[in-house]
Amino acid sequence: MDALSTRHGFPSEKARDRGPAYLAADCSEHNFYAIDRGLRDLLPLYLAPRDFRALEPHFDRLGRLAGGRLDELARIADKHPPVLNPRDRFGRDEDWIDYHPSYREMETIAFGDFQFHAMSHRAGTLGMDRPLPAVAKYALQYLFVQSEFGLMCPISVTDTSIHLIRKFADQELKDYLLPKMLSGDCATMWKGTQFMTERAGGSDVGAIETMARHEDGEWRLYGDKWFCSHADADVALLLARPEGAPTGTAGLALFALPRRLKDGSRNAFRIVRLKDKLGTRSMASGEILLEGAVAYLVGDARAGLKQMMEQVNLSRLSHGVRAAAMMRRCLNEAMVSAQSRIAFGKTIIEYPLLRRQLLKITLPAEQSLSMFLFAAHAMDRANAGDNDAALRLRILTPLLKFRACRDNIPVATGAMEVRGGNGYESALDFAERVAAEPALEANARAAASALYHATSAVVMTWEASRPGNDARRALLARLVLDMKLSAKDPLQPSRRDWEREGAELIFAGRKIALAELAGLLDG
Ligand SMILES: Cc1cc2nc3c(=O)[nH]c(=O)nc-3n(C[C@H](O)[C@H](O)[C@H](O)COP(=O)(O)OP(=O)(O)OC[C@H]3O[C@@H](n4cnc5c(N)ncnc54)[C@H](O)[C@@H]3O)c2cc1C
Repeated sequence: MDALSTRHGFPSEKARDRGPAYLAADCSEHNFYAIDRGLRDLLPLYLAPRDFRALEPHFDRLGRLAGGRLDELARIADKHPPVLNPRDRFGRDEDWIDYHPSYREMETIAFGDFQFHAMSHRAGTLGMDRPLPAVAKYALQYLFVQSEFGLMCPISVTDTSIHLIRKFADQELKDYLLPKMLSGDCATMWKGTQFMTERAGGSDVGAIETMARHEDGEWRLYGDKWFCSHADADVALLLARPEGAPTGTAGLALFALPRRLKDGSRNAFRIVRLKDKLGTRSMASGEILLEGAVAYLVGDARAGLKQMMEQVNLSRLSHGVRAAAMMRRCLNEAMVSAQSRIAFGKTIIEYPLLRRQLLKITLPAEQSLSMFLFAAHAMDRANAGDNDAALRLRILTPLLKFRACRDNIPVATGAMEVRGGNGYESALDFAERVAAEPALEANARAAASALYHATSAVVMTWEASRPGNDARRALLARLVLDMKLSAKDPLQPSRRDWEREGAELIFAGRKIALAELAGLLDG
């Protein structure tokens, strides 16, 4: 935040004459890595020193791109959404989707330059002699999404499709798909996606009606997929019911559906319509009609959903990271605005009421940063064989997805407005009771929130206590306790004396020592 405050000085009297200088500045042209004190402090904590040293230039480079060229491209792509061409000029069902060149340039950055899709599967991306740790991958996703959200869906779903094929497909299918999917050559590579949702079933996956028939030695799919993001991907992983299989989730098998057959001809499915969405407008989501399309069985035909849930869980984690990224962008925009907008003769950050609003934006943004890095670190440990970390990751993933995505909404609203330990034990107790007693199911969201808040407070306190780290995270942990885990009487004013002093330190553009927090962490 220090970098934000120094760049935006007050407008000169001459500039004021031109009117626009009255308006608050924004974040464009900042380096989103350089201005993110929390991220810079925490990465050395969660990454091995040699990985941090090797990757820091790439965090910095992506931070610059995210505040610069990527941000420009994202704005243009959002204004020029993809267009479906259902037929060619001879009336053939050769459907294809046109994208604006700005979207294509973003693809080149993501799939060609950074190779997000392949970075945790093979050596050779970003100059590394081995796959990147999950902490680094998600930190890079976090920087990218601060400018472009829509493209992160194809990036992430290609990455997670590769994971499923590597883990479950037979050798022949691996040999066919992986070299194309792991390629960094944008002109020839195959990108992945995931089609599950049907009209009959979104959450209720067991209601899926798509049928798989074994005809002349190959699987052919018949059905209608209702919400297919990255609709024109080169290969889609999907669930279908082999003829004669039981109803419900037990009868679903996992298939890989290529867009083109081995002879180069179009596979027998059509994109019949693109969705008119509120968000993620740069990326094409569509409806897919399967008309006897050739597909390859992946793994065990009786474990389709179980296998697919691995992809769903990886997507959930990435969604939590994306929410954290969007909150960070909102926070940065709010801070720049608060530091440069003048109302009633002062910059608006000087008003206590506005500072409280900024704290309310800061807190969930910082919580989600700690929570996604902690979860990604658990993934790295789980991948290295640590069973406890694997169990931790199972809980952290849905908590992060649920809470960060929800917090993103008031944070965005709050940021737009600016532009315009006691509870810890009881929170865990609460979650355990709700999990154990079916009659308490209606409390599930409240219990998940309590668990998220309590975990983030503990993680941030631990982060603050590490030698040499910025102690402001301990203040944020105290704010979690006060704002999220304490009972309040809405009819009683609160003095919040510590909060005023705490806010000074949270918004100070320098590293805070633990000793400076004396008297601010208790009471
Ligand atoms: C932008 C976007 C992109 C998408 N991309 C894809 C994609 O690429 N691939 C894909 O397969 N799908 C995709 N989807 C679809 C998405 O996965 C489904 O919308 C989602 O699974 C919910 O299913 P549904 O829409 O049928 O809603 P429903 O399942 O009908 O749910 C409606 C409401 O009921 C609630 N509900 C359902 N069951 C319960 C229960 N047991 N207890 C309490 N509440 C319940 C839900 O939380 C929801 O609020 C996308 C959706 C969006 C918005």
